[in-house]
Amino acid sequence: NILVIGSLNMDWIIEVDHTPIAGETLLGHFAKEVPGGKGANQAYAASSLGGHVTMLGAVGKDPSGEKLLQSLQKAGVNTSPIQANSETGSGMAIIYLNKMGNNSIVVLPNANNTVTKEVIMAHDELFKIADIIMLQLEIPLEAVYEAAALAHKYHKTIILNPAPAISHLPNEILSKIDYITPNETELSTLTNQPVTTVDDAIIAAQTLLLSGVKHVITTLGEKGAILVTLEEARHFPALSVKAIDTTAAGDSFNGALAVYLAEGKSIEEAIVFGNQVAAITVTREGAQSSIPFREEILPTTEN
Ligand code: ADP
Repeated sequence: NILVIGSLNMDWIIEVDHTPIAGETLLGHFAKEVPGGKGANQAYAASSLGGHVTMLGAVGKDPSGEKLLQSLQKAGVNTSPIQANSETGSGMAIIYLNKMGNNSIVVLPNANNTVTKEVIMAHDELFKIADIIMLQLEIPLEAVYEAAALAHKYHKTIILNPAPAISHLPNEILSKIDYITPNETELSTLTNQPVTTVDDAIIAAQTLLLSGVKHVITTLGEKGAILVTLEEARHFPALSVKAIDTTAAGDSFNGALAVYLAEGKSIEEAIVFGNQVAAITVTREGAQSSIPFREEILPTTEN
């Protein structure tokens, strides 16, 4: 059983010639509404890849909220703990996609901000029956900390995707984390060290180990991922594909890790699987819509 605690956002993708600057009014070409949010994407991915997944989070009592729940349910996620809050709208992301393919994103947390420490404490039972707890940083930090504390109390495996980037996480939290999965930017921000090469990433990850986190798995886009523990530093190259949209690459990678770990496979096997899954995700458009099903992943000699 995998329990995902995190955000659900409706992504509004607006195509523009260039990213608007201060004071500018711009005519967009078209807007597309797609279900997203890091928590929801990871839950969607883990379920599509064969995991038994429950999600705890919040949406607004509005059409976006209904669509967000429906998308997860279609993928097989148990959404019953997700609250529909009438006081606030659903989380939302406005994404300007310019002609060069670059994104500028504004996220409005809305209902995601109602996932408080108290909400987490009220769902103690969900922690008891889960094997793996997946966390990100798009809900209030105090709720993430409480979730880590509860998961730790029940001796559950914790995967923390420290996104969006944050400059500090207390050692008290990091020491409870089994697997932390930053991308290059998040690792750099978290350790206050430059991360551009594989070697930089290994050095920064090693400093993170000092906080007591057990495995640092850094995703490096088209360079794949690295695993750094007290015993080893190992690079797992990405598959060579033609990337057209990297949205949800990291989320699908995290979902894949959780599914393989839940099945009792090794972390090395899980990372190979994560690279395979994410390589498919980047060849397709959108967030949840780009995430593959288990049947689409070809077996390799390593798994
Ligand atoms: P995020 O989406 O969080 O920024 P990354 O960009 O690091 O994460 O990508 C996550 C994973 O997606 C990588 O570890 C890799 O497996 C896969 N990936 C990303 N970009 C590419 C690419 N251009 N080609 C192949 N795989 C990719």
